[in-house]
Amino acid sequence: ILNMAGASERTFIMIKPDGVQRGVVGDIIRRFEQRGYKLVALKMLQAPKTLLESHYEEHKGKKFYEPLLEYIGSGPVVATVWEGTNVITVGRKMLGATDPAKSEPGTIRGDFGIVTGRNIVHGSDSESAAKREIGLWFRPEEVSDWKHTAEQWIY
Ligand code: ADP
Ligand code: MG
Repeated sequence: ILNMAGASERTFIMIKPDGVQRGVVGDIIRRFEQRGYKLVALKMLQAPKTLLESHYEEHKGKKFYEPLLEYIGSGPVVATVWEGTNVITVGRKMLGATDPAKSEPGTIRGDFGIVTGRNIVHGSDSESAAKREIGLWFRPEEVSDWKHTAEQWIY
């Protein structure tokens, strides 16, 4: 029997303060669950500036950098890690384009966003970014490698 699953990988998905305040946390989590991905870490926090500086270090010096740190630090975010085949690439597709105006309807940003400066959600864009971001936002023991069991949960 062929194993249809490719190599499993993990990605970092963060619901930004506007996503939290718009009340779409549940919807975003539901989309990843329904797609078939496995939630392996989750927490809400108001990110300290040092963490955001590391997270967005590639954008340091750009004109949107300081406003970006202010926006992401302005309220709590929901940080999550998802696991599954191609979850990095598929996750980015599920998010849509950086500019919500260019995002297809059916994507998270295409359904909930209007402007780049308030684009609801973050997702890792590569394997190295995913590893780096998961390590920044979560201690190893905060990421669970739970397995589906054969047990019945409903009786
Ligand atoms: P993505 O989040 O899709 O990977 P980038 O890495 O290019 O996009 O940018 C990181 C984040 O910085 C974006 O999600 C967005 O919140 C913000 N950003 C990017 N470009 C702009 C811009 N021109 N104006 C305002 N905010 C921006
Ligand atoms: Mg990016």
